[in-house]
Amino acid sequence: MSASGKDTGDTFKLAVGKVVDNQNCTGCGACALISSRVVMTLSADGYSRPTVAQGPDSKAETKQFQKVCPGVRVDARDLRAPHSHETFGKYWSVWEAWALDPAVRHKGSSAGVITALAQGIVTSGGRAVGATASAEQPSQTVPITLTTKEEALSAAGSRYAPVATASRAKGLTNQDAFIGKPCEASAVRAYQLQADTREEPLLLSFFCAGTPSQLATDELANGRLGIASDDIERLQYRGNGWPGEFEVVTRDGESRSLSYQESWGQVLGKALQWRCKICPDGTGQLADVTVGDFWEADSNGYPRFDTESVGRSVVICRTKRGHEAVLRAAQDSVIQIRELDIEQLVPVQPLQVDRRSTMAGRIIGTAAAGRAVPRFRGFGVVGLGFKYADRNLRAGVGAYLRVLGRRA
Ligand SMILES: Cc1cc2nc3c(=O)[nH]c(=O)nc-3n(C[C@H](O)[C@H](O)[C@H](O)COP(=O)(O)OP(=O)(O)OC[C@H]3O[C@@H](n4cnc5c(N)ncnc54)[C@H](O)[C@@H]3O)c2cc1C
Ligand code: SF4
Ligand code: SF4
Repeated sequence: MSASGKDTGDTFKLAVGKVVDNQNCTGCGACALISSRVVMTLSADGYSRPTVAQGPDSKAETKQFQKVCPGVRVDARDLRAPHSHETFGKYWSVWEAWALDPAVRHKGSSAGVITALAQGIVTSGGRAVGATASAEQPSQTVPITLTTKEEALSAAGSRYAPVATASRAKGLTNQDAFIGKPCEASAVRAYQLQADTREEPLLLSFFCAGTPSQLATDELANGRLGIASDDIERLQYRGNGWPGEFEVVTRDGESRSLSYQESWGQVLGKALQWRCKICPDGTGQLADVTVGDFWEADSNGYPRFDTESVGRSVVICRTKRGHEAVLRAAQDSVIQIRELDIEQLVPVQPLQVDRRSTMAGRIIGTAAAGRAVPRFRGFGVVGLGFKYADRNLRAGVGAYLRVLGRRA
């Protein structure tokens, strides 16, 4: 079977293959929404990737793919909102927030806000698509459709591993929610527009530094903690405190853990797929609501990851619908909210600030090294490129050398 579709004239397979070959695939799984020929699996290097089975070519599928796949394009120009920030994008309102149920706040990644909103959706009869540990292989992550408050609670917590959540988004209606990484939220929004169903789930996303390889999770569990994959009963990356620990529980009930700095700082954060390094959408511009860590800052203004405390989230409402959903959740005593000035996020999210302001250089450097890049519109990348010209030049050279394999 042809891997890329080149020798078969299969334009859909060819288009998907091109995205994967150029390392522009985010692993979101939206192509599996478009064609039943797509199966999402883990690649040898530990990322979620599509495999397209041979079949009759459909130009309609190819056309839809070109509009939906975040490895081809991400377009935020149509979003209308009263405010805008150069790093955090367009927004209706910004809040510090936490779940009012202490169990949800404790189990959540930062403060359980997404879980609390998902519980509100399922309580009123909707469904929420999210991600959770695989029941068969708890070290791996799978998409899930949540229909009860208990299921939503059990899926709380970030999983720093590949999962194609968008592949589950078919058939969601106005009363449902989709929870996913920014690239997944943008793909689901574009898919709903293409499908023209007039049904749009509430899109809940979170700040995203990138998806690490599954091999990084295996290195932590098998290597650093010395627990074989077959022996794992439960594996979590965050939660049960803030930021919470990377914890593995064996089938015998023994628990071993690593701090956030040891897990994310030393291993997971160093194993990100390439597409994440040229992602201008780390704060979920196409979601209705996007949630991040409202980290404590030290005396130099940098976030502190070394303390365990009660979680606090930052919530950005991108759309009027998202703004109203957050206000309603607060009125229903599901979450506590306190209005924030968006400038307060700048010192506590230095990675997002740095990445967005040097994105022009990274994208140009990648393209100059001969690799096709996705089309990003509505992220203000060009303006920031001129504004921070020196830093973009350095970022461009770095990306160029990395693509050519001359730098780690
Ligand atoms: C890969 C990744 C990178 C992140 N990078 C940052 C960052 O740079 N800065 C920052 O402030 N925050 C980052 N976060 C988000 C942060 O960890 C919290 O998830 C966010 O603050 C929401 O917290 P919460 O307590 O409201 O979420 P919770 O109530 O714990 O809910 C989290 C929800 O996310 C879903 N989920 C978990 N993992 C995944 C996944 N891999 N893919 C899709 N859905 C998933 C779960 O189903 C759950 O419903 C990242 C999260 C992930 C998964
Ligand atoms: S980015 Fe998403 S839609 Fe595009 S090829 Fe990869 S998994 Fe499929
Ligand atoms: S960094 Fe961007 S491309 Fe990578 S997983 Fe997050 S949202 Fe998707």
